[in-house]
Amino acid sequence: MPTPGLDGYAPPWLKPEHDDLAELARDFFTKQVLPHAERLERQGHPDREHYLRAGELGLLGLSVPEEYGGGGGDFTHEAVLLHEQTMAGEGSLGLAVHSGIVTGYIRHYGTEEQKQRWLPGLASGELIGAIAMTEPGGGSDLQAIRTKAVREGDDYVISGSKTFITNGGLADLVILAVKTDTTQGAAGISLIVCEISDKSEGFRRGRLLEKIGLHSNDTAELFFDDFRVSHRNLLGEEGAGFYQMMAQLPQERLVIGVGAVAAMQRAVELTVAYAKERTAFGKPLTGHQNTRMVLADCATRTRASRIFLDDCIARHARGELDVPTAAMAKLWLTEGQCEVVDKCLQIFGGYGYTTEYPIARMYADARVQKIYGGTNEIMKELIARVL
Ligand SMILES: Cc1cc2nc3c(=O)[nH]c(=O)nc-3n(C[C@H](O)[C@H](O)[C@H](O)COP(=O)(O)OP(=O)(O)OC[C@H]3O[C@@H](n4cnc5c(N)ncnc54)[C@H](O)[C@@H]3O)c2cc1C
Repeated sequence: MPTPGLDGYAPPWLKPEHDDLAELARDFFTKQVLPHAERLERQGHPDREHYLRAGELGLLGLSVPEEYGGGGGDFTHEAVLLHEQTMAGEGSLGLAVHSGIVTGYIRHYGTEEQKQRWLPGLASGELIGAIAMTEPGGGSDLQAIRTKAVREGDDYVISGSKTFITNGGLADLVILAVKTDTTQGAAGISLIVCEISDKSEGFRRGRLLEKIGLHSNDTAELFFDDFRVSHRNLLGEEGAGFYQMMAQLPQERLVIGVGAVAAMQRAVELTVAYAKERTAFGKPLTGHQNTRMVLADCATRTRASRIFLDDCIARHARGELDVPTAAMAKLWLTEGQCEVVDKCLQIFGGYGYTTEYPIARMYADARVQKIYGGTNEIMKELIARVL
């Protein structure tokens, strides 16, 4: 179904190969994952088999070089995949984190040995990736994290806890933000890649957190109590972690923006279709001026958002996406998502409030977009700093 306001529009970075990828991804999400949606929601986490299947199809690690088992593409390919996942209404697989974020850290900061050790597994789906920065004591103030890693011989011994970790219930590989020097703020933070399993000594997964949305994706607490990991798992250098996160967060924010625009696009499509069918006072909802005005607003916001997003994607592909622009994208696109989805839900009337209609789930799923990846208040701080 064409999206009103976006019919015929193509991103400037789009190449024919992206269309083939979109078709493959759409097919995978709709035919192989969505039929299990209700069960996945009930169990509160995705199926590991779906990661493996995505890996077999070449949908994981699209931006990972081929020599490490990836697709050899770039961020535009990840963006197409994530767009299709949201447009399909699939929310169980944590691909935004697994492929959109975790592989990037390893690619950028990993040694040759680390890349060979972890990237093929992430690309095949044998390893599920997560990144853990947030702690129970706070997420916005990253410099204040308390999880510590103490060097003992060839190992780091890690103690502390993380919370709200996407993919935390299934993850095999976690990029963990730790303090290797507790006397320092930002300069004391390092990133250590932890291979974890339910049998790992000194590691425990907490419960899966019950959320108002994103029910089929696992968000968990992780506990480390004298967990030992080889010093060879340090990503880059000791003390570089904060700067590595600051360098990677623009991509994380763009990943969130991709989801936001796809959600707006889906909401407008679903609502236009509904408004043409549903009648009130003897005519379709689209026969009432208010419905047309609201839909016009939503379609306009969606189109403007798409163009801003595409400009950011193009900048990112050239290596030119700066921190404030990425913050603007995260801020404005997620505010737009919540606004558009809310307005669209209203057009569904009472049905919009029932979970039988996708718009209700989209409403609940949208809310967290303004919170994670750095809250929107923090985005405003980042933008205001350069004004
Ligand atoms: C579903 C979900 C998935 C997540 N996935 C991950 C993940 O994979 N990995 C990970 O590390 N984290 C993850 N998070 C955590 C998320 O990034 C944090 O919740 C977020 O950064 C905010 O941290 P906090 O919850 O501790 O809020 P706090 O930092 O306590 O902030 C509370 C409020 O105060 C405001 N505030 C804080 N500081 C300022 C300031 N300087 N100026 C103005 N206002 C301020 C905030 O904007 C917010 O409104 C996830 C969260 C959720 C809900």
